[in-house]
Amino acid sequence: MKNVIGIDIGGTNIRAAAVNSNGEILHQIKVKSNARDGIEHLLKNLGEVITSFADFQTECIGIGIPGIIDQKNGILTQAPNITGVKNFPLIKEIKKVTSLESIIVENDANSAALGEYWMGSGAQSNSMLMLTLGTGLGGGIVLNGELWRGEDGMAGEIGHIIIDPAGPLCNCGNNGCFESFVSAEAVRRIVNNNAVLKEFTKNTHPDDIPEKIMLLAIEGNEDSLQIWKDIGKTLGIGITSLVNLLNVDSVIIGGGLSNAWELFQNWMLIEIKKRALSGPGERLRIYPASLGDNAGIFGCAYLAYKELKIFN
Ligand SMILES: [Zn+2]
Repeated sequence: MKNVIGIDIGGTNIRAAAVNSNGEILHQIKVKSNARDGIEHLLKNLGEVITSFADFQTECIGIGIPGIIDQKNGILTQAPNITGVKNFPLIKEIKKVTSLESIIVENDANSAALGEYWMGSGAQSNSMLMLTLGTGLGGGIVLNGELWRGEDGMAGEIGHIIIDPAGPLCNCGNNGCFESFVSAEAVRRIVNNNAVLKEFTKNTHPDDIPEKIMLLAIEGNEDSLQIWKDIGKTLGIGITSLVNLLNVDSVIIGGGLSNAWELFQNWMLIEIKKRALSGPGERLRIYPASLGDNAGIFGCAYLAYKELKIFN
């Protein structure tokens, strides 16, 4: 039986696993990526990760990375979370640290979507969207079992759909993008503009503010409840546009903010019911993601099996 390795590179960690074609993890590790220290450090760590799987009969490695990838040429064109990357010949450099010929690289949000499609909440799906509610709002589009990458590898940037042209400034330079309302960054901005919540969170690390707002909401704090209500409503509005456009059967919602599912799901569903076209709206199923931090690993393994033609 052949195995593949799925490797999910993040700004903080590299997660990797040998995965068999039944989707069983045979061995798994997590190490620091040191991506902020530069691509050389990242490559060194990646090389050590790959070497540590030498005992597994690996035929192909799938790698997910936070950036924009030119699939044809194996080039990482942009990666804001990895220092020193512009048009970096990723596949060529990885081949220096492994004798394996078969390597496939994919954007991390896309690989997470494929992971949920293969082994997670999208396993019964034919066409689905994944929204990852993290620091920003990431997305992936799977149509008839295939990733839709777009002509430039940039499809699925769901976070930059414009919800309100007069809305807050987004990192991309536009105003009112989906992620400027639905993301950890958005929660932090709203908290910062709310005197009561600012006081409640004055000793909370910025990374932990969304979770703190979740706990406050569970305790019944009105301002915190309102944040999740607004997030739910905006999610519903954004998802409505997406399903009217793509008529997918499922939307999967993952990322750290999805832990607040119970606080926002009803507001989201009300909005979709009210606004979506009846056909796409009635067919649509929405689930929280089920693979957590392992979604990327599974997606990368899935891509590796496709590369080997073991999967269609
Ligand atoms: Zn934007």
